[in-house]
Amino acid sequence: TTSNNHFWKKDKEHFIHPYTDYATFKDEGSQVISKADGNYIYDSNGHKMLDGIAGLWCANIGHGRKDMADAIHQQITKMQYYNPFGHTTNEPAAELASKLAEISPGNLNHVFYTCGGSTANDIALRLVHYYNNLRGKPNKKKIISRNYGYHGSTYFAANLTGIHGTKDCFDQIAQDLVSHISAADMYRRPAGAENLTEQEYCNFLAAELENRIQQLGADNVAAFIAEPIMGAGGVLVAPEGYHRRCWEICKKHDVLFIADEVVTAFGRLGEWVASKEIFDYQPDILIVAKGINSGYVPLGAAILSSDIYDVISKPQSDGGVLSLGFTYSGHATACAAALKNFEIIEEENILENVRNLGPVLQDGAKELLTNPIVGDVRGKGFMLGIDLVSNKDTKEPLNVASRVFTKCMERGLVIRPIVNLIVISPPLTLTENDVQALLQIVNESIEEVYQEVSA
Ligand code: PLP
Repeated sequence: TTSNNHFWKKDKEHFIHPYTDYATFKDEGSQVISKADGNYIYDSNGHKMLDGIAGLWCANIGHGRKDMADAIHQQITKMQYYNPFGHTTNEPAAELASKLAEISPGNLNHVFYTCGGSTANDIALRLVHYYNNLRGKPNKKKIISRNYGYHGSTYFAANLTGIHGTKDCFDQIAQDLVSHISAADMYRRPAGAENLTEQEYCNFLAAELENRIQQLGADNVAAFIAEPIMGAGGVLVAPEGYHRRCWEICKKHDVLFIADEVVTAFGRLGEWVASKEIFDYQPDILIVAKGINSGYVPLGAAILSSDIYDVISKPQSDGGVLSLGFTYSGHATACAAALKNFEIIEEENILENVRNLGPVLQDGAKELLTNPIVGDVRGKGFMLGIDLVSNKDTKEPLNVASRVFTKCMERGLVIRPIVNLIVISPPLTLTENDVQALLQIVNESIEEVYQEVSA
């Protein structure tokens, strides 16, 4: 069907798609998605599908909203953009910075705007280095990240990323600056940790972080970066208490804790900010994007603590210019979209919807474990991973998520296939009926794939 579509020819000839397997892409092509409305999307043939991944963990308030269009239209006709390079600013950027400071826990009060999550991570690290230089600790440069963590596609963010393909198929220019430790993976654990209790495993992982800081020398380590729940790396939920322990270790060694909440912030786990409100630690830097305006206009931000801001904002003897920023930092239209997005989240009790229906989604998905190829079901709120295995004892990955994806699409649901993992991260506006429909389609599709592979 895609080959009949005249867009497909243009697409194939001229569009370099991100994260695309060219071994299959050139023959099979992509499905053209032409329309999106609420929790549903439509392909160019009019086939309606429930959006089980909110575009890409971002369309949190649903698609195609007129109230968002109106807010964006109003801002564009008033003043679509003007640069905020100090001498000038704009109302939505200032208003949003104040709102983000209100939503963010503790002393996370200062916002640096970017174009998305990768650029927010890159900027955060430049600012961390700048901060350490200014406070007389110029050797504190190394960043500890985690295997399977996903932090983006710009050069430094890709170096932070610990996912095999992203990490290894391109050059690693920041190799000396980044050091990876184990993922907090409850299902497939590192050697030596297989039989530990959850508490012991938490201690095991925390000890690895502390050992790494000591090996590198605390005087050389600037920051630790982690997602509250690892997203693209496998929807990995850490053992209870893990983030808090890591945070305490960071504090002890004067290492900044960067919470990459590009996926988890603004409601996906039922709270505005997951790090403090769910996992009980206070990041020094909060990285946000995606759900900040539900993907209506590109936007990201690094939100810094007052302690960091006080140092980097001090006028310096050499001029004190904060020499970094993007044309689109504090883009008026993107910020206006974020303000409207937050208003909608509040007015429609969207966080409460996730708190109510998150358990329905998670508990319903647990029932899939009766299927012989479902090895693990994990997640929280509206973030769910279903791990397919060929053998439940060895946990050998069964790389058929793409087949499940195709079958779900035929039945009217989009999921995200990552090798052996099915990722589900729907709009936060799903109804209970949507959740039940989603679970039924996933169940039937996995069952059909199971029948095929065991035939
Ligand atoms: N950090 C996390 C945790 C992400 O999931 C992503 C994107 O999926 C990024 C950073 C990169 O954000 P962007 O794609 O907006 O640059």
